[in-house]
Amino acid sequence: MPCKTKIIATLGPASSDIETISNLIRAGVRVFRINCSHGTEKERIRLIQLAKSASQSLCIPTSIMIDLQGPKIRIGDLEQPFILLQSGRTIKITTQSVLGNENVLSIHLQGLVENLSIGDRILIDDGKIELKVIRKESASLEAEIVVGGKLLPRKGVNFPDTELSLSGFTDKDLRDLLVGIGQSIDAIALSFIQNEADIIKLRKILKDQYPTREKIPIIAKIERPQALEHLAAILEHADGVMVARGDLAIEISPACVPTAQKQIISTANRMGKYVITATQMLESMVESATPTRAEANDVANAIFDGSDAVMLSAETSIGKNPVLVVKTMASIIEEAEKNLARWSVWDGNLAIKSNEEDSYFVIKAARNLSDDRNVTAICVFTQSGRTASLLSKTRPNVPIYAFTPNSDVYTQLSLYWGVQSFLTPRASNLAEILAILENSLYQSGYLRSENQIVLICGYPVHQFRTANLVMLHTFV
Ligand code: PEP
Repeated sequence: MPCKTKIIATLGPASSDIETISNLIRAGVRVFRINCSHGTEKERIRLIQLAKSASQSLCIPTSIMIDLQGPKIRIGDLEQPFILLQSGRTIKITTQSVLGNENVLSIHLQGLVENLSIGDRILIDDGKIELKVIRKESASLEAEIVVGGKLLPRKGVNFPDTELSLSGFTDKDLRDLLVGIGQSIDAIALSFIQNEADIIKLRKILKDQYPTREKIPIIAKIERPQALEHLAAILEHADGVMVARGDLAIEISPACVPTAQKQIISTANRMGKYVITATQMLESMVESATPTRAEANDVANAIFDGSDAVMLSAETSIGKNPVLVVKTMASIIEEAEKNLARWSVWDGNLAIKSNEEDSYFVIKAARNLSDDRNVTAICVFTQSGRTASLLSKTRPNVPIYAFTPNSDVYTQLSLYWGVQSFLTPRASNLAEILAILENSLYQSGYLRSENQIVLICGYPVHQFRTANLVMLHTFV
């Protein structure tokens, strides 16, 4: 049985040939992440096409998620290959484009001086260097070097104490989106968002410019304290969130990440939204052949917290043995999933308001029926994938087999916890649906005679309604 919790692998130089990508899928990857912060456009297109072709040859649906860089802020170029910043001294920060040295650094960001307040921290190079604003002038800031060190050009900057007036969607993101949509990607992750406005903006761009892909899942990466503050509003508008622990740790400190992870996952689950736990899950395996004990614990605990998917970054993109990493992750997941009933904090009990769409009530009924009757599987006939993705959040104890005539939905469904998808012809009545189920499930070895399943579909079938029927069916 494949893992119910989905494994997301970031593609990169270490996983850029068809054989490795095919082996990653065989080992358990069901979602490939293309990180738009790295590589050229041509390289990213090549990776997407390789992943699609490996998935097709193996007949295992896998999704592609592009990860848009968002407004990543960097310091400018330097006069020297590097400079040494001494703790206790002060330095000027300007938005003008000047070559940096020990006295001045350029950070090209409109509104920087207005947005920062005295006392706000400026963290550079993954937080290794810390500055604190001590004076504001009309077009520059003066900062104390709290923690100094060696600084190279174009290093990333974080502003943990400041809500910045910047758009979460840059011109580069627009170009990367265009390329991604052109390659029929299945999900979009958006970096450095601060509030729901960034999600609303991206959804509008999709609606106006790519109306056929308007509903593509948008995953908000939670990596700024401001995004944590606006979590519920972000989740109202996004399809899911990612606990992006790399930048989150820089912004809120590593000590606060475990609590933030639990808060993000539990809020997403209650609201029926998709949630990924990401970054450094098996980091030591970039070099090593075995994980640390703490990493194995981390993967299992992310599952017990209620993650739908767990993500690998450097481990599969630049690591020494990407396939071994995925096999290791799959074995940890498998072991954790045997013990979900005992340790999982997420019981699948969605917070449903009485005015919610019918699908919520239908999937809840199906979930209860599957427990009461101890069935083999829950089978869902779905046009848009919505019912299957929602059902996945209720964490049934049996597999979810999702049948769809739509090839985009067929691949997209591989994102979701516990869902295995099948591409089927359109059915026009219940008898046809049952015949399709029987054929596909017997052929795949998932069903034997006298097995009972729960079926969810829209009725009347030929009207392609959203789910409104739940039925127990026993195959003879
Ligand atoms: C993170 O910061 O944890 C993350 C997933 O984003 P990126 O890999 O783009 O830094």
